[in-house]
Amino acid sequence: MILVLNTGSSSIKAAVFDGEIAEQATATLTGLGNSNGRAVLEVGGVKSAVDAPDHAAGIGVMLEALGAHPFSAVAHRVVHGGTALVAPTKLDAHKIKVIEANVPLAPLHNPPALAGIAAIASARPDLPQYASFDTAFHATNPAVATTYAIPQEDRDLGLRRYGFHGLSYAWMVNQFGAALPDRLLAFHLGNGASLCAIKAGRSTASSMGYSPLDGLTMGTRSGAIDGMAVLRMAEIHGADEASRRLNKDSGLKGLGGANDMRLLLAADTDDAKFAVDHFCYWAARHAGSAVVAMGGVDAVAFTGGIGENSAEIRTRIMAHLKFLGEVPVHVIKADEERQIALDATNLGAA
Ligand code: ADP
Repeated sequence: MILVLNTGSSSIKAAVFDGEIAEQATATLTGLGNSNGRAVLEVGGVKSAVDAPDHAAGIGVMLEALGAHPFSAVAHRVVHGGTALVAPTKLDAHKIKVIEANVPLAPLHNPPALAGIAAIASARPDLPQYASFDTAFHATNPAVATTYAIPQEDRDLGLRRYGFHGLSYAWMVNQFGAALPDRLLAFHLGNGASLCAIKAGRSTASSMGYSPLDGLTMGTRSGAIDGMAVLRMAEIHGADEASRRLNKDSGLKGLGGANDMRLLLAADTDDAKFAVDHFCYWAARHAGSAVVAMGGVDAVAFTGGIGENSAEIRTRIMAHLKFLGEVPVHVIKADEERQIALDATNLGAA
C-alpha cells in the first residue's frame, strides 16, 4: 500500500491506495500554520481539532490518522521538477537537493512538499519515498513552445515556460487508454485553470508558463497579462503585493467578486456575468493557440471542478469553438492522487 501526500502551504491531503490503485482511506488537514497552532483534521467525514503548528507536526497527525493502513511507501505531489526532474522518481538525497534547488521556481509550492518529505524521512526512515511532478508531463513540449524570446542571460536563469496540472493531464491520458484521440484539446478547469495540447499522448503546448499565473482566467489568478502591466503593478504596489494581487485577488474574484464559479453562475449581477463571459472567451482564445500547436484537433476533454460539473461552461466554451466543426467532447474525472499512486507503483513501490 502507498500513502499519497499532497502537502500545501496550509493543508495536507493524504490518501492510501492498495496495489490495484484503489483508494482505501483519505484524510485532510486544513488550517496548518494557524496562529494558535490548531488545525482541522477530517477523516471519513468526521472533523476534529488537532495540534499541528507546523508541517512536521501535520505529517505526524496524518501518519497517526492513517496508521491502521499498512502502507510501505510514501508518494508526494511536488509542483516543480524544473528541467532535471521530468518523470516520476524514487527520492534520494541528491533528488531532494534538486527539488530544493527548484524552490526559486516555485517559492509557494515546493517548500511545503519538501517539508513533507523531510517529516516522513524523520518520522518513518524505513519508508521509501517517491515524487511525481506537476511540470513533468509538459517536458515533451518543443523548445519553440517553451522558450521566451528574452536575452540568453535571462533564459539561463530558468525563465521559460514549464506548464502545470501535468498530473491531471497524465491521468486523463490514462483514462482514455487505447481510445486516446491523436490530437486532444484538454481543459483542466478548477480553481486553477489551464489547457494542454496533447498529441499522441504527449503534451505539445500548455497555457501555463513560468508559473501557474499564465493562460486562462482562473478563480483568483489573472491569466495572461502583458509583462509591462505586471511591472507597472510592481511599481505601484511593490513586487510582493503585485504578486499577491495577480495570484489571489484577480481572475473571477477580481472581475466578479467571487472565485467560486457556482456562485457566479447563480448571481444576477453584470459583474458576475462579465466574469463568466471572460472565463469562457479566454478559455476558447487560448484553445485556438493549442489547436495550432497540434495542427488540428480530434477531440476535446474537460476535467476539474468546473470542467466536470458545469455543462453550461463546457457548452459556452464549445460555442466559441464552433468553427472547429463537429468534435467529440469528453468529461474525465480528475484524480491526481491516483496518478501519483500509479506512478509510484510503476517505479516498484508496493
Ligand atoms: P481546485 O482547483 O482547488 O482543486 P476544483 O477542481 O474542485 O478546485 O474546482 C473548484 C471550482 O469548481 C469552483 O469554482 C467551483 O465553483 C467549481 N464547481 C464545482 N461544481 C460546480 C458546478 N456544479 N457548476 C459550476 N462550477 C462548479
